Amino acid sequence: MKSNPKAEKVKYIFVTGGVLSSLGKGIAAASIGSLLESSGLKVTLLKLDPYINIDPGTMNPLQHGEVYVTDDGAETDLDLGHYERFTQARMRRANNVTAGRIYDNVIQKERHGEYLGSTVQVIPHITDEIKNYIRAVGKGGVDVVICEIGGTVGDIESLPFLEAIRQFRFDVKAKNVLYVHLTLVPYIKTSGELKTKPTQHSVQKLREIGIQPDILLCRTEQSLSKSLKEKIALFCNVAVDSVITAMDVKSIYEVPLSLEKEGLPRIIISKLGLSVGALNLEPWKKIIQILKKPRGGEVDIGVIGKYVDLKDSYKSLMEALIHGGIGNEMAVNIHWVDAETLENGADPSFLKSYNGILVPGGFGERGIEGKIRAVQYARENKVPFFGICLGMHCAVIEFARSVAHLKNANSSEFSSSSSDPIIDLLPDQDAAGNKGGTMRLGEYPCQLRKKSNAYEAYRTREIYERHRHRYEFNNRYRIQLEEAGLKFSGLSPSGNLVEIVELEDHPWFLAGQFHPEFKSSPMEPHPLFKAFIAHSYQYRDENHK
Ligand code: GLN
Repeated sequence: MKSNPKAEKVKYIFVTGGVLSSLGKGIAAASIGSLLESSGLKVTLLKLDPYINIDPGTMNPLQHGEVYVTDDGAETDLDLGHYERFTQARMRRANNVTAGRIYDNVIQKERHGEYLGSTVQVIPHITDEIKNYIRAVGKGGVDVVICEIGGTVGDIESLPFLEAIRQFRFDVKAKNVLYVHLTLVPYIKTSGELKTKPTQHSVQKLREIGIQPDILLCRTEQSLSKSLKEKIALFCNVAVDSVITAMDVKSIYEVPLSLEKEGLPRIIISKLGLSVGALNLEPWKKIIQILKKPRGGEVDIGVIGKYVDLKDSYKSLMEALIHGGIGNEMAVNIHWVDAETLENGADPSFLKSYNGILVPGGFGERGIEGKIRAVQYARENKVPFFGICLGMHCAVIEFARSVAHLKNANSSEFSSSSSDPIIDLLPDQDAAGNKGGTMRLGEYPCQLRKKSNAYEAYRTREIYERHRHRYEFNNRYRIQLEEAGLKFSGLSPSGNLVEIVELEDHPWFLAGQFHPEFKSSPMEPHPLFKAFIAHSYQYRDENHK
């Protein structure tokens, strides 16, 4: 494949992972992006996922973690959330590609006769398709593409991706490509030693495929000594200064600073021959300072959810709450409450230990009545309440049942026979049939009422937020609920869709149809999370807790 002279300036960093999963490849890739941005470069990121699903939209959050939604409505891997939180790069559909998408494209081309009778094979057809995606994200004026390969080196399914990135170095100038390998150097307590063998084996595996890593990020709980780095360098054929201690840190937001201390940006910049300005890490330093010494105190937030055991299912939400804290110079203690524990007449009074209650998004009936019970508790006891998507559905159902006397109010997602489907399918959507991409997805505008908590937080009349849902507020009930005291403070520009509801006569009760957590970052905490945390703190203060 010929290289394109215009694209020759773009540099590519490939991030692979070894030994085991969950080492934090996504955070490592995002941190590299952030460090390069801090020296004035324009970066973008790409996640290549080796599984066969076309996208993670249909995957169980328990297995795969949260589905992250981009402005253009793509349902993507949660690592794209890290990319957007750590960098200025905006992710779109093309920034996450799965093996399923690659094979689907190749099969479509084959059906259209595009391969002119040749046998369609992993090499070159699948690998070419992968490389096309890598090259495509490098267009549009970026200096560096950081491409993370999902999975662990040694997996059968990641082989075509590794082969594609191996070839890539020959398609563009070799000096424009860097391979960064994240590996584990475990500390064995009984012998009091750090062990390098898993790293050696993982790099061997990579070299068998034909990839010689340039930089090793060694995830570890103890700093690597010089002699240990020398040993790893020798066995893995890597320069000593390119063996980097990737130390366990308390907050993911410490990773960029910790990697900078190890000299990572300097090494990347020199290996890729980049010309850059001085590194400005002040914004990160400020964030770490707040996280370490929150001057504003702390708040306890109860999150009433379904997947309380696996926090990855609510990744962006958890981060957005922390950002809300950063925005107020406060620490946020997140308490996960299994919604089912609030069902069947259970006493909700344990909720009184929280200064704010949040019901997040979700799908399916399990735990619904518990979530509705939590809303009722927050409404009656005037505890700050924040409902997100399904959380808004619960808030509206609770209000309809308890205040507007619509005892059977429900969402048609949970009860097809409810006489009062207060939350219903969008008229132009059919929930049956194809499950992928049948939702209202991506960014939509919303107009705010001036006298509202929403406006108070955003300070602007028009906002843009990301959606991922099938069901909506049923307009048949708008007048009735408004008369009963529900305030519709955010509507779609046509006025047709209810996007935000609030309660008067309550310190802060706000529920939205969209997912604000997808647009929050530590540098720019989302206005609604910031306001929710501020009001929760005020509640705590007033209740002398
Ligand atoms: N299950 C609800 C719907 O499809 C809410 C979705 C969500 O919370 N993201 O409308």
